[in-house]
Amino acid sequence: MDLGIAGRRAAVAAASRGLGYATATALAAEGVEVAICGRDQSALDTAVAGTQLVPIVADVATPDGARAFVRAARDALGNIDILVANAGGPPAGRFADISDLDAYTRAFELNCLSTIAMCAEALPDMRTQRWGRIVAITSLAVRQPAPHLILSNTARAGVTGFLKTLAQEVASDCVTVNSLQPWLHDTERLRSLPGGTDASGIPAGTIGRPSDFGAIAAFVCSDQARYLTGAAIQVDGGAYGGLQ
Ligand code: NAD
Repeated sequence: MDLGIAGRRAAVAAASRGLGYATATALAAEGVEVAICGRDQSALDTAVAGTQLVPIVADVATPDGARAFVRAARDALGNIDILVANAGGPPAGRFADISDLDAYTRAFELNCLSTIAMCAEALPDMRTQRWGRIVAITSLAVRQPAPHLILSNTARAGVTGFLKTLAQEVASDCVTVNSLQPWLHDTERLRSLPGGTDASGIPAGTIGRPSDFGAIAAFVCSDQARYLTGAAIQVDGGAYGGLQ
């Protein structure tokens, strides 16, 4: 299926590996020009080797860093049509493990404010040209908070409210805003967490490949997906047990 986005330009944040990288390569396979960021030049160089991906060193842990990435992507490629807002996850822990309240501030900056900042930088051009796709990578923890991820649960609920509201505001400009809520994909982040790659709670019987996620993200960015907006879609092999 041709997703109808060849020649479009994308900024995919936090994408030297994992779900961001899988999304970037899935978009590039559709003929999208893609800029990716990470904090480390050598990791980026390894990630882009043999691809057309444009590497940009940027740290999206702060709103300024996040905006700077989108600006640099625009400088490199031209107007950004597709924004994939992503960042690393905050440290694991329960409420009792985290006595420093600044940890919540950092998580909020990393997983909420940085997405808002990237949207602020990318949206004006999307609205003017009347075509845009914004996809944020969040977590299934938005629907089903994970007990050991209180920082992530807290920050990502906030960004999900922002995205839903924004989707309604910009829909008439032909800009869609959605989030994807991954659970258990085989990445370094997952392997670093308690329980790691244990698939016993996953109805599909296996953890996801990053490329499974990338294919879904690319479809949400497709021309065909123009009527899909304001959605928060779980990508979880059936792990979520609720109806909504
Ligand atoms: P990962 O750790 O494998 O990869 C994260 C990527 O982001 C790396 O390229 C890293 O260099 C980059 N990065 C991290 N912090 C950055 C920063 N401040 N600035 C720029 N780049 C930065 O993680 P992943 O598994 O691909 O996860 C992506 C997102 O999805 C994370 O927020 C994670 O918490 C969330 N998530 C993942 C899973 C999963 O099963 N993999 C499940 C739920 C949620």
